[in-house]
Amino acid sequence: MGTRMASRDNWIHRKARDYRWEGVAELPYKEDDRALFKAITRQVLFADPQLHGELRYFEVAPGGFSTLERHQHMHAVMILRGRGHCLVGEEVRAVGTRDLVTVPAMTWHQFRATSGEPLGFLCMVNATRDKPELPSAEDMAKLERDAKIAAFLRNEPSA
Ligand code: MN
Repeated sequence: MGTRMASRDNWIHRKARDYRWEGVAELPYKEDDRALFKAITRQVLFADPQLHGELRYFEVAPGGFSTLERHQHMHAVMILRGRGHCLVGEEVRAVGTRDLVTVPAMTWHQFRATSGEPLGFLCMVNATRDKPELPSAEDMAKLERDAKIAAFLRNEPSA
């Protein structure tokens, strides 16, 4: 067991075991039935109200992907495990362990585990945040007009 203070909510040290943490539940990625995603789990590592922010760990299994979405709040992401690709706005990037990814406000984004290995990433967000917007058919058509984005969305990124 790690070292903790008086209550379960006041951990000062929680031991890692691979990519799971003591006292941290592995949760379904989302409860939103509208969202399209595949093979991804969520762990909330830090969410103390005094922080005004949260640090979460998401892990996408090989071939899986996060929801394609956009929202007013930002994401500050560090890849913690494996390799894959992400879409941020009009950019498709190959990402690997310890890379940093910034997702600005109202920017379409998605993470895909394209390398036959899990893709795990830390994501920092505001504690109070707006609900994600999902792409309409029109938004999808617009995104798919870009060949590199279309390839990414088919899970076949070129680089
Ligand atoms: Mn998001």
